[in-house]
Amino acid sequence: MKPYLKRAWAEISLSALRKNVGTIRGLNAPSTELMAVVKADAYGHGDERICRCLAEECGVKYFAVSNLDEAIAVRGFCPDAEILILGYTPPEYAHEIAQYNIIQGVVSTEYAQALTGSTDETIRCHIKIDTGMGRIGLKHDTPESCCNEIAQLCGMDGLHVEGIYTHFAVADSKNQDDIAYTENQEKFILDTYDCLVNSGISLPHVHFMNSAAICSRNSGRSTLARAGIILYGLHPDIGLEIPGELEPIMELKAVISHVKTVSEGDFISYGRTFSAKEGMRIATVTIGYADGYSRLLSSKGEILVHGKRCPIVGRVCMDQLMIDVTGVNAEAGDIVTLIGRDGNQRITADELASVYGTIGYEVVCGISKRVPRTYSTEE
Ligand SMILES: *Cc1c(COP(=O)(O)O)cnc(C)c1O
Repeated sequence: MKPYLKRAWAEISLSALRKNVGTIRGLNAPSTELMAVVKADAYGHGDERICRCLAEECGVKYFAVSNLDEAIAVRGFCPDAEILILGYTPPEYAHEIAQYNIIQGVVSTEYAQALTGSTDETIRCHIKIDTGMGRIGLKHDTPESCCNEIAQLCGMDGLHVEGIYTHFAVADSKNQDDIAYTENQEKFILDTYDCLVNSGISLPHVHFMNSAAICSRNSGRSTLARAGIILYGLHPDIGLEIPGELEPIMELKAVISHVKTVSEGDFISYGRTFSAKEGMRIATVTIGYADGYSRLLSSKGEILVHGKRCPIVGRVCMDQLMIDVTGVNAEAGDIVTLIGRDGNQRITADELASVYGTIGYEVVCGISKRVPRTYSTEE
């Protein structure tokens, strides 16, 4: 028996995670170490088990998160890891950053001053440079002026600068213009780094690789590769070919609660958007938009039942949805697959995302708290 109520759950394969780590390491240059991006509860996969597997079984040393809460959680799972906060921490929490031995991303000189001004402890940091993402970081017209500001930060009391990094905006694109844009972003940060070296400052880290870059351009000069979505086996962009076998590590399952035969003209679900044909078999499934299965999949998505694709009919409700199981031998109690494999069929989070106009990232991050995560470690 499963230790949870059998309604809707996510099955996560840690062996697939380990395989993905191996694949990613194979794509990285030997000089580049993996930094596992485990923000947002490891992209909805559950940060505790994912972090422990990565640290204890895969030997991953570097982790990245979005905020202090996540960083403190990861510190609890991985006492020896290096943990970088990519996003904002209010300066009044500088003491906690130091206490938990976290590395903070620093986005401006003012922010560095605010951090160091609020504690006597030394704050470890990587300096974020905005080379074209337009989100956060030091922004300069030339690598030389950027280098000057960073050199000042390196001399600041209470701040220990251990690296610089930037984030690509279009590394997932095959468009020539976009490729040139990414090359310019990379050139800017490397020129900044080299300028620092020429000024006598050799920082341990310079990093800029994300999943899309890992799949599309190999730069051995990035000391760390911040891999997020590909760890979980999904595509940074559905059009981007991945030069290696990645396995989606999450499957999403639910149960059939009720099956009925309907008559011509019977309506299914809210809004009466679907009217049945004579003799149709309709099954009700125990998952809905409150579980993170989007209402935008109403009358669009498909669900696997006994290895067959069954279309969603009518609107997805909060806790339930209906599918057409005509011709499928479906009964109450049967397990259905919303994301994952069943027989020869497979539905990925990337496929679901494309059905309703989003990306696989949002699908997996959106699987709600109500859905228990279970873990398997064997093949
Ligand atoms: C989220 C994030 C990543 C990981 O991105 P993926 O596309 O999932 O690999 C890397 N770097 C930064 C700064 C991020 O915010």
